[in-house]
Amino acid sequence: MQVLMREDFDTLIEKLQGADYEVIGPRIREGAIVLDTVDSAGDLPAGWTDEQEGGRYTLHKTDSPSLFHYTVGPASLKSFLYPSKSLLCRVYGGHNDFDVEEPEIEAPRRAFVGVRACELHAMAIQDHVFAGGRHPDPVYTARRNNIFLVAVNCSKAGNTCFCASMGTGPEATAHYDLALTEVVEDGTHYFLIDAGTKAGRSMLDELPLRPARAAEEEAGAAVVRNAAESMGRSMDTEGIEDVFFENLESPLWQEVAERCLTCANCTMACPTCFCSTVEDISTIDNDMAERWRVWDSCFTTNFSYVFGGAIRKASSSRYRHWITHKLAAWQEQFGTPGCVGCGRCITWCPVGIDITEEAAVLRRQREARQGEARYGAGTRTAY
Ligand code: SF4
Ligand code: SF4
Repeated sequence: MQVLMREDFDTLIEKLQGADYEVIGPRIREGAIVLDTVDSAGDLPAGWTDEQEGGRYTLHKTDSPSLFHYTVGPASLKSFLYPSKSLLCRVYGGHNDFDVEEPEIEAPRRAFVGVRACELHAMAIQDHVFAGGRHPDPVYTARRNNIFLVAVNCSKAGNTCFCASMGTGPEATAHYDLALTEVVEDGTHYFLIDAGTKAGRSMLDELPLRPARAAEEEAGAAVVRNAAESMGRSMDTEGIEDVFFENLESPLWQEVAERCLTCANCTMACPTCFCSTVEDISTIDNDMAERWRVWDSCFTTNFSYVFGGAIRKASSSRYRHWITHKLAAWQEQFGTPGCVGCGRCITWCPVGIDITEEAAVLRRQREARQGEARYGAGTRTAY
């Protein structure tokens, strides 16, 4: 492990820019920390921290000089690797005489600074979905192949975070080029820095670093330990597939539907959700038409439209579909849960519906049924 002093942080940004990367990092925009172009360390939200709860997100300024003392905001890597809108083709001409033009895929060289462990796991899930099969998605793979990832281990866990229980954070353990741990103590401010790839090791050679002392390594480990121990929420994943597959007729679905607005915010903010639809537009004289892929959500009525009607008309069936896919069916399909515990769907749900609470209710319902089956109906437990 090596040490990069805070005053040398700009060198990292300059070296990335010198390697022809557009540097993207956390910036404050419209009251939230999102991802945007960063020209220097001065653009990072030094001293800012966030407070998150179900349906609530606020920023506060503190006296700390920390550059990364906050958790994930509404933006994620997803919108850079899998854009919300991509042009699939453009068609010119009339009925029997037309040309099809395939657009050039834009895949800018980008270095992302400040990426969290849950984000990296979400990206690995999307790698599997978009690049792991026989037909890799050309937009995703082109963009994915052109990025450099500088992870930052979380120094703070949010109230809606539960990555520790999902095994996806708060420490970055894979999928990064460089990983940093920010330490602010006794008037010093530095980053422990480590490489995860050959590209990362080449970048280390360009930076003004020194070997870390044992006390500094321990201070870095304490930062991550503290974040892991202060997670606001947790998810019990033991036997979770059965919890969902044995609760397909639970009364919970109707109860959630009375709160759910089917606004689709949860799926838009989720870094692993990947559903899309196709939209066609044409000029008024019909000389040109375009076909676009745009993000869609299983919370919209049209998403399940087949042969003249929607399969999931009720919001209860849409919520059941979403959470059951995320936590159970995804495991059969892709080998991991579709959730990394980032908490975005809780924070950005306007009515604060909480994936951890709903999963816990379903677990208690299943346990109550098992208790009844074993010992008789008199043992019914309140859930
Ligand atoms: S769970 Fe919340 S964010 Fe998701 S669709 Fe329902 S109201 Fe919207
Ligand atoms: S389901 Fe919610 S907590 Fe899980 S990855 Fe998606 S947004 Fe994050």
